[in-house]
Amino acid sequence: MNISGSKFGIVGGGIGGLAAALTLRQRGAVVTVFEQAPELTEVGAGLQISANGMAVLRALKVVADTPEAGLLSHGTVLRDYRAGRLVCKIVPPSAGPTYYYHRADLLDLLYKAAVQKGVEFHLGARVERVRKHPSEAEITLDTGARFRVDCAVAADGGQSAIRADLTGRETPKFTHQVAWRATIPWDRRNKNPCAVLTMGPGRHVVTYPLRDQTLMNIVAIEERSDWQEEGWRLRGDPEELKARFAGFGGLVKEILQEVKDPNIWALFLRPVAECWQNGRVALLGDAAHPTLPFMAQGACLALEDAWTLGRSFEEQSGVSQALAAYEATRRQRATRVVAAAGANARNFHLRGPMRVGAQLALMAVGSRLGRK
Ligand code: FAD
Repeated sequence: MNISGSKFGIVGGGIGGLAAALTLRQRGAVVTVFEQAPELTEVGAGLQISANGMAVLRALKVVADTPEAGLLSHGTVLRDYRAGRLVCKIVPPSAGPTYYYHRADLLDLLYKAAVQKGVEFHLGARVERVRKHPSEAEITLDTGARFRVDCAVAADGGQSAIRADLTGRETPKFTHQVAWRATIPWDRRNKNPCAVLTMGPGRHVVTYPLRDQTLMNIVAIEERSDWQEEGWRLRGDPEELKARFAGFGGLVKEILQEVKDPNIWALFLRPVAECWQNGRVALLGDAAHPTLPFMAQGACLALEDAWTLGRSFEEQSGVSQALAAYEATRRQRATRVVAAAGANARNFHLRGPMRVGAQLALMAVGSRLGRK
């Protein structure tokens, strides 16, 4: 289908929404992004973008062959938690390397590319609902303003409000995992920068450098049962963070001493959506398949979704056919990765003497899944 001149509305200006805007605009569509935030900024934190995500960013011409804002990963080092003893190193896959991005830098690259290509932005625009009509979709903002488009894409994240229109109301489930995130200034340059995964009973810590290794990104995950609400980016107490990971030695201990201003949130999860589209409205990214961060694949999957969506329009004869093809292509792959990330939640936190051996075996399987 030739979508040149067709109108698309994207709900959400996150990584998935911006990538979808670009892929559709590249094919000549008239694209408007509705983002509830008044500006596209992000709290400081990192993202690992593996070869699958990088391939989409390159195809969208958001990054060059040698990306400037990203830091090339030289692999992942696995360490035991007590003294930080090295267990093994997983070298970068031959399929292509992973890059570490500051989330704000990646969003900025996507946003600038979208603006340059002529994508229109409505910032501070909270979408209240999206309705399907026989030959179009209607996007309604909380101000009452309405916009008619040929197709709407809901990329409004893991707490998507639009998803309920397609799947019905769902209650998110607390996964009993709580994530702490922080960055700290860093001045130790490593010739071969790596991510370090330090696993302990009931908790793990991932650290990797960002930019030109002047920042260290920290994600610390712990199992907890005491959480009531779906929190998002709450301020955490650095003393509590240290206390909760007090059993960790080595570099993790050193790094946690430096954390001043952590964010903390409970990981709530909805399942992969049963219905991704209704012929005029489609879900994309976390809105369709929220995932635990234990394979570092959520943003990469959103990028894959965006690329597949564009290609489906190219290959199919109409909007409903394209959306059906998009869902059919993506569902199995996304479901598989979400399940593997869920399994890692257990693998990373095993207790007892078999812990490290089992973790190694399961991680190898998991990392292969992430690359396929
Ligand atoms: P989001 O990034 O959530 O964007 C949704 C956007 O929609 C937001 O800008 C929001 O403001 C907007 N919005 C919401 N509702 C509305 C509305 N009603 N109207 C208008 N706008 C709205 N993934 C990786 O690939 N690699 C990693 O290393 C990685 N690390 C992670 C670490 C942690 C601790 C966590 C929690 C996640 C991690 N992820 C990682 C996952 C990744 O962050 C997400 O999968 C990804 O951000 C999803 O992108 P998205 O565009 O679908 O949604």
